[in-house]
Amino acid sequence: MPSPSSALLERLAALLGPKGFAREATAVEPWLTDWRGRFHGKAAALLSPSTREDVAAIVGLCAAEAVPLVPQGGNTSMVGGATPDGSGEALLLSLRRMNRIRSLDPAAGLATCEAGVILAHLHEAALAAGRRFPLTLGARGSATVGGLVSTNAGGTQVLRFGTMRRLVQGVEAVLPDGSLFEGLSPLKKDNRGYDLTQLLIGAEGTLGIVTAASLRLVPAVGERAVAWAGVETPQAALKLLRHLETVVGDSIEGFELVPASALDLVLEHVPGTRAPLAGRHPWNALIEAAVPMAVASPEKALYSALGSALEIGLVTDATIAASDAQAEAMWRLRDSISEAEKKDGIAAKHDISVPVADMPAFLVEAAEAVEARFPGVRVNAFGHLGDGNIHFNVRAPRSSGPAWLEGEGEAVTALVHDLVTAAGGSISAEHGIGQMKLAEFARLGGATRIAAIRAIKQALDPAGIMNPGKLVPPVEDPHDGLAERARRP
Ligand SMILES: Cc1cc2nc3c(=O)[nH]c(=O)nc-3n(C[C@H](O)[C@H](O)[C@H](O)COP(=O)(O)OP(=O)(O)OC[C@H]3O[C@@H](n4cnc5c(N)ncnc54)[C@H](O)[C@@H]3O)c2cc1C
Repeated sequence: MPSPSSALLERLAALLGPKGFAREATAVEPWLTDWRGRFHGKAAALLSPSTREDVAAIVGLCAAEAVPLVPQGGNTSMVGGATPDGSGEALLLSLRRMNRIRSLDPAAGLATCEAGVILAHLHEAALAAGRRFPLTLGARGSATVGGLVSTNAGGTQVLRFGTMRRLVQGVEAVLPDGSLFEGLSPLKKDNRGYDLTQLLIGAEGTLGIVTAASLRLVPAVGERAVAWAGVETPQAALKLLRHLETVVGDSIEGFELVPASALDLVLEHVPGTRAPLAGRHPWNALIEAAVPMAVASPEKALYSALGSALEIGLVTDATIAASDAQAEAMWRLRDSISEAEKKDGIAAKHDISVPVADMPAFLVEAAEAVEARFPGVRVNAFGHLGDGNIHFNVRAPRSSGPAWLEGEGEAVTALVHDLVTAAGGSISAEHGIGQMKLAEFARLGGATRIAAIRAIKQALDPAGIMNPGKLVPPVEDPHDGLAERARRP
């Protein structure tokens, strides 16, 4: 792809001014490495527009020269989605300066946010208005609305409220030719053909630049209860979830599965943590129930549901947090698993889903298969059991270095993804494809799905300027490195 000409760079500098245009290494470098430190790219300049009109002008100018643009929000992508390639041809387009909440209407339950609004700021603004934006995740202090939309982010409350696809009412975006799609309408019904908003959600910046989104709000939490329960098997955990949903109802909004091995890692590596239950339980469930103000106490409901679960042998022990501090300490155990795993060593990480009912058996069988094929590795599988979405991480044999990831780690990933595909699942439940999973997506995504994705990309972005090298597998070329990798067993 062509590098930006000096005339284009001059026009962009004039358009955006010193706050919005940077070429110095000190300004650009910090944004060229992904959050996990696995990808490092180059960019001809960092563009930081502050209005949608500027975004439209940037895209129009770049389209005229077919210069690639890599959109970036908080740069917390887990799959290298916001990192440019190493050619230095692309321009990095940061939306972080577009951080205004344009409107927040508690009565209508809608907030219209520019793309650069940070999730934690949206949480605070909604709460101040007696409402809640019911999606949260570990990167909430950095992740932006544009990134959340573009990755169809999930998190720990999907069980009750769904992913971004359910929480986005409308999207405003600049399409690859520089035109503005104004899709922020609050219409509840709109059948004018293809749903462009849904097409842009999860598109990972390959179909346009999201400049704003209107997001659904729900009533603020009045009361919540958080509990920790020990269970014998993942099957028992899923039965416990179904039991809680029957007895407590739809106030159950968090249900995270934590194996003993993950809890051990946290207790070993994260100072100030302690196990909520006496004794070691092979598996644990972290449960959260929440209700709006003036509705029956979730604590009482959870207490009686866990009591009956104990009686029928679904759980081996359980405790309910007696205070907000205790509840936060329980969530800290869950939220620290990735950090503890990182401190412990190298791991090949997989963000996978299978049908919810099949997940308990899958967890056990896939772990056995992986550990048998690769002696010394240890599976650490945890997460959103109720969504059928587990972080199926495989820890490298002790004392392995980073090179393990490029060697045996890739073979481990191929096996995990084969098992997931055979189980009718997805190799990317939450984090997207980015550049990290492109070869595996090409290998396992299915010919029909991939042909349709390529056709949509070609129709909307024929010059291929939007986030090249991400999500959309290139057309097979037998001499191409990607195709070669994709053919590996
Ligand atoms: C600690 C941690 C925990 C996480 N937990 C979860 C979790 O529980 N669930 C989950 O789903 N994800 C999780 N994630 C990953 C999650 O996808 C990102 O946190 C978030 O969705 C990305 O937001 P961002 O602003 O950082 O986007 P970036 O990382 O900057 O970009 C992500 C992708 O979106 C594109 N993009 C960004 N902004 C725009 C825009 N305005 N228009 C078009 N394209 C754009 C980028 O090009 C890239 O492809 C986690 C990440 C971290 C670091």
